[in-house]
Amino acid sequence: MTGRRIEIRGIVQGVGFRPFVTRLARHMGVRGRVWNDRRGVTIEAFGSSPVLETFLARLRGEAPPATRIAELHSATIATEPVEGFEIRASREAGAKALSIPPDLATCPDCEAEIFDPSHRRHGYAFTNCTACGPRFTIATDVPYDRKSTTMAHFEMCDDCLREFEAFEDRRFHAQPNACPACGPKLALVTLDGEPIGGEDPIAEAARLLQCGAIIAVKGLGGFHLVCDATDAVSVRALRDRKRRDQKPFAVMVRDLAAAGAIGELGRDEEVLLSGVERPIVLVNRREDIPLAPEVAPQTPLIGLFLPYTPIHHLLLEAVGIPLVMTSANVSDEPICADNDEASHRLVGIADALLLHDRKIAMRCDDSVARVIAGIPTILRRSRGFVPSPIHLKHPVARPILACGAHLKNTFCIAVDDTAYFGPHIGDLESVEALDFFEEAVERMQRILSLRPDVVAHDLHHGYLSTQYALGRKDVTSVGIQHHHAHVVSAMADNGVEGPVLGIAFDGTGAGDDGTSWGGEFLLCSAESCERLATFRPLSLPGGDTAIREVWRTAYALLHDAFDAEPPIAATPLFRDVPETSLRVLSQMIEGKLNAPRVHGVGRYFDAFGAIALDRPIASYEAQVAMAFEAAADPEVLDAYAYTIDTRKAPIEVDLRAAARAAFRDIQAGSSAGKISARFHNAIVRLTIEVVELLLDQVGSVPVVLTGGVFQNDRITRGIAQQLGGSIELLRHQNVPPGDGGIALGQAVVANALLADHE
Ligand code: ZN
Ligand code: ZN
Ligand code: FE
Repeated sequence: MTGRRIEIRGIVQGVGFRPFVTRLARHMGVRGRVWNDRRGVTIEAFGSSPVLETFLARLRGEAPPATRIAELHSATIATEPVEGFEIRASREAGAKALSIPPDLATCPDCEAEIFDPSHRRHGYAFTNCTACGPRFTIATDVPYDRKSTTMAHFEMCDDCLREFEAFEDRRFHAQPNACPACGPKLALVTLDGEPIGGEDPIAEAARLLQCGAIIAVKGLGGFHLVCDATDAVSVRALRDRKRRDQKPFAVMVRDLAAAGAIGELGRDEEVLLSGVERPIVLVNRREDIPLAPEVAPQTPLIGLFLPYTPIHHLLLEAVGIPLVMTSANVSDEPICADNDEASHRLVGIADALLLHDRKIAMRCDDSVARVIAGIPTILRRSRGFVPSPIHLKHPVARPILACGAHLKNTFCIAVDDTAYFGPHIGDLESVEALDFFEEAVERMQRILSLRPDVVAHDLHHGYLSTQYALGRKDVTSVGIQHHHAHVVSAMADNGVEGPVLGIAFDGTGAGDDGTSWGGEFLLCSAESCERLATFRPLSLPGGDTAIREVWRTAYALLHDAFDAEPPIAATPLFRDVPETSLRVLSQMIEGKLNAPRVHGVGRYFDAFGAIALDRPIASYEAQVAMAFEAAADPEVLDAYAYTIDTRKAPIEVDLRAAARAAFRDIQAGSSAGKISARFHNAIVRLTIEVVELLLDQVGSVPVVLTGGVFQNDRITRGIAQQLGGSIELLRHQNVPPGDGGIALGQAVVANALLADHE
C-alpha cells in the first residue's frame, strides 16, 4: 500500500472534475480525497502501486470534455488509514476566486439531448451540465453556487433536483441546471415587447432571418445582432443601422464542415474553433465563398465561430444558413446585455429581439483568436477565457490592479502568483465604456474578495484608464511605459523573467521622453527598460485624424523621403486632394503644428500601404495595413533598401530609401503585390539585422515579439524563420500581442518597481 499526492493545473474547476475523480476512485477502490485549491485540484490517493498507476492514467485519459490538464505532478506520500473517497471543501483564501469558472460551450452530450425528440430537454435552449453552460456571466457573487447566480430565482423541479443531487449524474452540482418545466424561457418580441409568432420562438426567428430581418439574440455575455450572412441586402442594412462602415462582421456557422467551406482551416484553426472557449477565429477566406461580400469587404481574413449555447445550436439548425453575429451595440459602445437596455438601445437597429428571462450578470464580449505564424494566439481575451487565471512565475508582493491601455482595453488583477484578466472592455472613449470598465473592475474585486492598493497605469495622461487610476483614493499608483508593459506581458505569457531583447512594434504609445513610441528595440527585465534602437519618427499631420486618413501619413512619408518636396503630381493617391490642403500639410509638418512625430512602425505600414494600394482612407484602425499585408506577392523575395544609423543613441532605422524606391515602383507601374512584398521583406530583414547587432552588444538573451504589428502573419513568420537557430524567440499565446494584453505587463512591472523601492 502506498499514497500519492497529485496536483493538477489547467481548466479543472467548474467542469465536473472533482465528481469525476471521486467516481473513478470509488470505482477502482482507491481511497483518499480531492479538493480545489488556488491553482487547480489536488488529490491524495491511497492504494496499491499498480492500481494508483492505472488511476493516474485514467485521470488523464477519461477526464470530462471541458477539462484541460496543463500540468500533472504526482509525488509519493505516506499511506493513511482512511476509508472511502471524499470531496473536501477548499479552505484556502484564494480558492474562492477560482471557484467561478469561465463560460463553457455546450458539450456534445447536451447538444445531442436538445436534438433528441424523445428527450425531455428536446429543443430546450438552456440545457447545460457540469461540463458546459454559463458560469462567469451568470455569477453574482462568490462562492459559485446557484444562489449566487442569476439562476437563483428559478426553483429546480423534482427531476432537475434529482439530477443535481445524484452523484452519478452528469448534472451533479451543475449550478445552472434547468429544464423546460422549471428553467428560463425564450421569447421572440418586438422592440415594444409585443410577442411575435406562435409557440416556437426559434422557428419564428429563423423564418424572420430567412426573410432578411435583423434580430437581436441574447447570448451568454450580451446580445448579438444577427442576420443572414448570405444576403447582401440584410448585411448592408445591418451596416447602415449599426453605423459600421467596413469593419468585418463575425459569422457563426453550424459546424467545422461549414467553417471549412468559408475559410482555410488547418489543424490549429479547427482546435481553436471547436474548443470550449469558442472564440471567433480569424481565418484566410476561400475564393467564391457562400457569403455576401459585405460581410467582410476588402479583407482576406474572416472571423468564424461555432455555436456555443443551445440557443445558437437550435437557431443555426433551424435557419440552415451562416449567420452574421456581431455585438449588439452602436459603433464602439459596450455590448448590450439587459432586456430593457436592448429594447431601448436597439430601436432602429434590430427588427425583433430573441430574449429570455435569465439575466446576464456580467457583460462579456466574444473572444478572438488567430493562428499567427504557426502559433494559436489570443487576440481578444474575453468570454470563455475570463476569469481563467494566468500563472505568474514570480509572485506579486501585494495585489495589483493594472488598468490597461486605451484602445481594446482590458484590465487585470494580480494576486500572489496569479493574474486574472477582466472581460474585454473595448475602446475607452465614451462615458459608457468607462462605466463598464469601472463596473467590471468592481466585480472582479468582489469575486476575488480583495481591493488592490497598488494601481498600475499607462504613462499617457489622456487615457481614461490613466485618469481612473490616478483618481482612485488611497492607492499607490504606478505609471508604466507602454512598450515596457508590452514586452513584459509577452515575458509573463511565456514564464520568462528576463532580461530579454524586446521588439515592440505598434501604432502609438507614450514614451518616457514625452514622444510617441512604437518601433522599439528594448532591453527589458521586469524592473528596467533600456531603449536600444527605434525607427526614425514620422510626422502625423492632424494627429489621430491621420490614423483614419492614411493619405496624410503617406504624404508625411514622401515629404520626409524627398526632402520636403514630395512628388505630389506623380502620386495617384493625392489626385483628389486639393493643392491647398497639401500645402497646409507641408506647413504643419515643417512648423510641427498638430503634427506629432511618432516612432510607431504601424504608421509606416499605413503610409506604404496607402501608396501601394491607392487607398487614402482606413475606415477602421489598421484596415489599410491588413489589406497591405494580404496583397504581398509571395514570389517576390527582394527587399527595399533602408539604413541603420548606429552612431545615434538609440540606434535609428531609416525607411526613407524604401519610400523612394516604393515611389519609383509606382512610377514603373509595379503591382501592389510586389511593393507590399518588398516592404514586408525590408521590415523582416532590418529587424533581424538590428537584433543581431544588439545581441552582439548585450549578449545572448531571448528575443520577444510584441505589439499590434505582430498580428501580421507575414512579418512574424519572416522573423521567426530567419532568426538564427541559436536565438530563443518568444511570442504571445494566452495574452494578446496588442494593447489588450498590456495589463499583464503593467502588473508585473509595477510589482518589480515597488520591490526595488522598498
Ligand atoms: Zn453539457
Ligand atoms: Zn427542471
Ligand atoms: Fe500598443
